[in-house]
Amino acid sequence: ILKGYIDRAPLESDMELNVGNKIKLKISKGSNSVLIKNLYLSCDPYMRGRMREFYGSYIPPFVPGKPIEGFGVSRVIDSDDPNFQSGDIVSGMTGWEEYSLIEDTKKLRKIQQDDIPLSYHIGLLGMPGFTAYAGFHEVCSPKEGDRVFVSAASGAVGQIVGQLAKLHGCYVVGSAGTKEKVNLLKTKLGFDDAFNYKEEQHLDATLKKYFPEGIDIYFENVGGAMLDAVLLNMRVHGRIAVCGMVSQHSYRGEDGIHNLFTLISRRIRMQGFIQSDYLHLFPKFVEHVGAYYKQGKIVYIEDMSVGLESAPSALAGLFTGKNVGKQVVCVSRN
Ligand code: NDP
Repeated sequence: ILKGYIDRAPLESDMELNVGNKIKLKISKGSNSVLIKNLYLSCDPYMRGRMREFYGSYIPPFVPGKPIEGFGVSRVIDSDDPNFQSGDIVSGMTGWEEYSLIEDTKKLRKIQQDDIPLSYHIGLLGMPGFTAYAGFHEVCSPKEGDRVFVSAASGAVGQIVGQLAKLHGCYVVGSAGTKEKVNLLKTKLGFDDAFNYKEEQHLDATLKKYFPEGIDIYFENVGGAMLDAVLLNMRVHGRIAVCGMVSQHSYRGEDGIHNLFTLISRRIRMQGFIQSDYLHLFPKFVEHVGAYYKQGKIVYIEDMSVGLESAPSALAGLFTGKNVGKQVVCVSRN
């Protein structure tokens, strides 16, 4: 557990961690680093892309032999950075391990503890929630009354997009891969309608049924056949926010897109985006979405697996649709 830390930490101070045998661990003065205990880890689809060299990716691959990196919520154990004290709860990039030594403390953000569950800081109030917020408000150019379609709608990002669109006065339909998820979209997450794309033979006809007048906004999470069918159902001057293409992560063949010509004929704006381009909006996002949550205007569904050893299968489950809501791993509750 602690090997990675011991290997990396210069041994000088006298902090003591009681993990099985008592082991003396140190943070050297002047290192500016922070030792954290990881509480919750985030499983996100982009992590699959970091498992191979992928030309065109926006993030470098994982380094074999080093702990997997990902977003987490953690407790500060010891700190040589004056901005962090022992006991602080932080979120940011950490390792898939029980304890991490963070040398670049700019990657950490202190969390004010209130009645919002800590794990939501890697979901609703973390990167996925922010992706939904920035993608919907900054890329989709939404107007009241717009007809919005969201794929992977019950997931970490999709469930927030749908709820933000409803708060904006839009008509919202989501697609998901099981009956249970479709029910959640309609009963708990407030979507106007939802369907199970795995039960549909002809996605083009299905979308025509849910959007007889066409789609103004498509929030794209999956790519492939769904995107191709959506292209046939967009309205003139529609917007497609390309957030992700989860169906393409492990796929190296044809992407199945044949209908791009409609971008021209219907003057559609299709724009990819990465949430980190909008980080200046993060404080506003936390304020707005935090308030919506406290006022009961937004709910969040999480799927929590327990124990660090459950993390690999939890991550793999994102690509088979095993997760119901935001997938997190609970390493420790305190
Ligand atoms: P989710 O919580 O939605 O989990 C992934 C879901 O995708 C699964 O539950 C499954 O749901 C669906 N899925 C898996 N494989 C396929 C497939 N072959 N075809 C269709 N659907 C599939 O993930 P997130 O909400 O975290 O991420 C959603 C998308 O947003 C991803 O593409 C991700 O890469 C992207 N993203 C982009 C960011 C950006 O800055 N651009 C930032 C964060 C995420 P189901 O059962 O419904 O099929």
